[in-house]
Amino acid sequence: MNNSEVIRLTDENIMQTYSRFPVAVKEGKGATLWDFEGNKYIDFTSGIGVCSVGYGNEKWAEAVYRQALKLQHVSNLYYTEPAAQLAKQLKERTGMSRVFFSNSGAEANEGAIKLARKYSYDRYGEGRSAVVTLVQSFHGRTVTTLAATGQDVFHNYFFPFTEGFRYTPANDIEALDKALGRDVCALMIELIQGEGGVLPLDREFVEAAARLCAERDILLITDEVQTGVGRTGTLFCFMQYGIKPDVCSFAKGIAGGLPFGGFMAGEKCADVLGAGTHASTFGGNPVCAAAALTVLDILSGEELEKVKEKGVYLRKRIAEMNAGCVTAVRGMGMMTGIGVKTPHKEIASKCVENGLLVLTAGKDTVRLLPPLTISYEELDEGLGILRDVLKKA
Ligand SMILES: *Cc1c(COP(=O)(O)O)cnc(C)c1O
Repeated sequence: MNNSEVIRLTDENIMQTYSRFPVAVKEGKGATLWDFEGNKYIDFTSGIGVCSVGYGNEKWAEAVYRQALKLQHVSNLYYTEPAAQLAKQLKERTGMSRVFFSNSGAEANEGAIKLARKYSYDRYGEGRSAVVTLVQSFHGRTVTTLAATGQDVFHNYFFPFTEGFRYTPANDIEALDKALGRDVCALMIELIQGEGGVLPLDREFVEAAARLCAERDILLITDEVQTGVGRTGTLFCFMQYGIKPDVCSFAKGIAGGLPFGGFMAGEKCADVLGAGTHASTFGGNPVCAAAALTVLDILSGEELEKVKEKGVYLRKRIAEMNAGCVTAVRGMGMMTGIGVKTPHKEIASKCVENGLLVLTAGKDTVRLLPPLTISYEELDEGLGILRDVLKKA
């Protein structure tokens, strides 16, 4: 097929829920993609933070292939090795106590919310089920995680939304103190608001949140679906904030491109979800877990340090462009937001036309989530295109 045939076939048959760029991707290697006519794109998106170890990664593909041949699925009625090994690794590298595996970020957050409500119900009975989230947050597209999402634009059409969610502004400790009342079982936060505009929370706010939650026996849930699995230069972002959440959800980058996610619980709430209280047919799938084990293996030691270094380099280079349309450059590791005066969608389209894939976020932010293993050569090539576009924007 050629580009226009793939695009036409898609638009005629798949629901039109996405406003796609007119690019049909055929294959990739490292952080470089090609369409069906051989046009090349440098990828600063990694499929929205998913393809953490890039495209055509031999080690990753080998692990997927070997596990697929051996055993692709058997259900959670039985035991399998990859999920068990993966949970052990996650525990060892985070200090959390138990893991539940799901297939996506929204599902992971749903599970985390269920855990928090049951924790509270077991200890205090009814009337303590509210979950506080932040204004401008994003937690997923299911009816409950839309309710958890602190942006009015998501609260349309699909009424009634799940009850029991309240929003408080990011980085306002006084407002948070008031919001965490007697009816609250959990506070759920993204340490860097991703979809909201790549907005890192203040350290003092996060420390205060951890303290207030601990004092009131409110569970602190960090939604690390976007910031997790090495994206910010440590395995999870909470490690850089010097706190330990009670629950931490993850998905996107965990399996390097296969659908996978989950949440980890700390000691205090590790055994809240007992037999029959939560489940997922595909959860802990052996192929996805084998892929995730390879991702964790690749993202250890030196490779994680390089994520930090490359992030510093990327943001320094962007700041040095002195492009008139740029108002701010922020982020951590391989998660970068560029505040822009020109409409962000326009900039993204111009980048695509010139062979660079970028994301947008919030109202005025160009968002960059390159594969964590991107080379400096690919970074430079992408930065060259970005400079030309930003200079003219
Ligand atoms: C992407 C994202 C989600 C939703 O993940 P899905 O896999 O699309 O369900 C939830 N929370 C955050 C912070 C995200 O970035």
